[in-house]
Amino acid sequence: MTQTAGNAERHEFQSEAKQVLELMIHSVYSNPDIFLRELISNASDAIDKLRLEGLSDEGLSGLAQDGRIIVTVNRGERTITVSDNGLGMSRDELVSYLGTIARSGTKEFIKAMHDSSASGGDLIGQFGVGFYSSFIVSSRVTVTTRRAGSDETWVWDSAGDGTFTVEPGDMDRNGTSITLRLRERSGDSDDEGKDYLSVWVLRGIIKLYSDFVSYPIYLREDGSAAKDDEEPVNSMKALWTRPEDDVTDEEYSEFYRHITHDWEAPMERIVYRGEGTNEFHALLFLPARPPMDLYYREGRHGVQLYIRRVFIMNDCRDLVPEYMRFVKGVVDSEDLPLNVSRELLQQDRQTAMIKRSLTRKVLDSLKKLKQDRPDDYKKFWTAFGPVLKEGLVSDPKNGEAIMKLCLFDSSKGGKTTLEEYVGSMAEGQKSIYYLTGSSAASLAGSPKLESFKKRGVEALLLGDPVDELWAAAGKFGDHQFVSVASADAVPEGEPPASEEELEQARHIEETGFLARIKDALSHQEGVAKSVEDVKLSTRLVDSPATFVQKGDPISSQMRTMFKAMGQEMPEEKRILELNPGHPLIKKIASEPEDDPERFAMWSKVLTGLAQVADGEPVEDGRSFTATLTNLLL
Ligand code: ADP
Repeated sequence: MTQTAGNAERHEFQSEAKQVLELMIHSVYSNPDIFLRELISNASDAIDKLRLEGLSDEGLSGLAQDGRIIVTVNRGERTITVSDNGLGMSRDELVSYLGTIARSGTKEFIKAMHDSSASGGDLIGQFGVGFYSSFIVSSRVTVTTRRAGSDETWVWDSAGDGTFTVEPGDMDRNGTSITLRLRERSGDSDDEGKDYLSVWVLRGIIKLYSDFVSYPIYLREDGSAAKDDEEPVNSMKALWTRPEDDVTDEEYSEFYRHITHDWEAPMERIVYRGEGTNEFHALLFLPARPPMDLYYREGRHGVQLYIRRVFIMNDCRDLVPEYMRFVKGVVDSEDLPLNVSRELLQQDRQTAMIKRSLTRKVLDSLKKLKQDRPDDYKKFWTAFGPVLKEGLVSDPKNGEAIMKLCLFDSSKGGKTTLEEYVGSMAEGQKSIYYLTGSSAASLAGSPKLESFKKRGVEALLLGDPVDELWAAAGKFGDHQFVSVASADAVPEGEPPASEEELEQARHIEETGFLARIKDALSHQEGVAKSVEDVKLSTRLVDSPATFVQKGDPISSQMRTMFKAMGQEMPEEKRILELNPGHPLIKKIASEPEDDPERFAMWSKVLTGLAQVADGEPVEDGRSFTATLTNLLL
């Protein structure tokens, strides 16, 4: 920051903000109209915030009445001014919010701009770089603001050239006025866009994007006398209180865009009215694609809470469960007290009731979506399935309903539901077999599935981290989930081994081969330390070796994850299973007994192969490959 002439301080924009500004100024946008939507939405938020502060601060409550937004055009000066009587900003807020804070959205916006084929205009709202969109149409932007309760006015000014100034100013009320000086047209006929100085054009944009804003938006021409019977441009009707038949799909989509900043239309909407002792309206949406912050704890989760049409809070996490955090929308309660706090909401009985009925409602609509629009449902599942599955852990009461909504990758290829899985079980099969790991694709080739495949028994390939948390205790109807990686999991049907192969196995066992391997491993480091037993296997067909575990297996990914979080894990106990019919095993079994060193090398290679086949890293790749190379020579 440097001092300039007079009282103005000059500041540098923070570097990401600078990049966003560059993009605004130099790129061509498919839809520059959105600058007005962004400014009106900020104005409306500022009035919401003042009303909220007014609830707890008597000094402000008087100011919080009669929120309104005025858009003024001045053709001669080529300016548009958007002014509100909301909360306003202090000097420090002004400096940090409009220029120097590295906002999380900004970085991601820049990245997405570079990565995506979507045009900048479409991406803007999504990342909360709303205010900067003024520079799409303006050569200079001036913000005059006074925070409610303060008597200081501040003026922010920038030509979008990398710096902005802040100096004291003069305004007779709280709120913010943002004046855009529109860029001169180049005169090139290709550059003929909309005339943003036309009242008629502006009226159209406001109607289209901001009709549901709950404060009146007036549109005036500078210089013309204010009329007594001035009508707001917007209808202000709370969309969620209107019967669904009265609202068009476009209106719903526009509202969705307003609350989510997502440019794509939602996949599904849920209009619901809670009646009886606990009255509320809910308008919820299932987005068509996941937001950037779906897995951030600090991300925007949950829906907006209104009480009797008054906005109370964003991201209210008590109205829908965490595992439905992809649901966006509005809940408007008739009965909650206006001064409700986040803490109170958490313990409130009515809130809990709203949450229960909305949870059921969302599950019902998902069920319907799955039945009626299976292709859309697949998209939904790809985007949000891993989140919904968290409900299998956190909401056992709805466990069965959630299970029915799950689409799992199948060892037979494609996706399957549990109902389909159970419907096509092998004769005598009781259990639902599954395998967990880092991705369905890597699991598909696991040696543990070989005998299951050979016998035509299907297994679910569970590749999401959350699967580790519920699958071991999973149950669907009478069918228990059983991991294919468990030592006791034996698929139903004909054993894959022939009489001759069994004879081979017996022969190998008689030579004391298994005890030799076990002994060799006991002198080694790394994974060998966790080998509790070595057995001949009936689960392998094409691979020489695999690891299984006793009881409920914990995958190596899960162990690594827990360890990284500083969690203690029970000591790992593995069983190394060997395929007696495999030529490599036969070869090792016939190695002469007088070369224990070579035998030790083979045993090391076997454990390494078992790890690699399961997509697990070998701890000491260099030593493993050196040993293997040695044996190959
Ligand atoms: P977003 O609205 O997504 O947070 P913006 O860049 O549009 O991003 O605005 C940045 C911040 O500046 C807002 O979060 C708000 O705190 C403040 N702000 C913008 N416009 C106004 C306004 N009209 N009144 C008060 N504060 C505002």
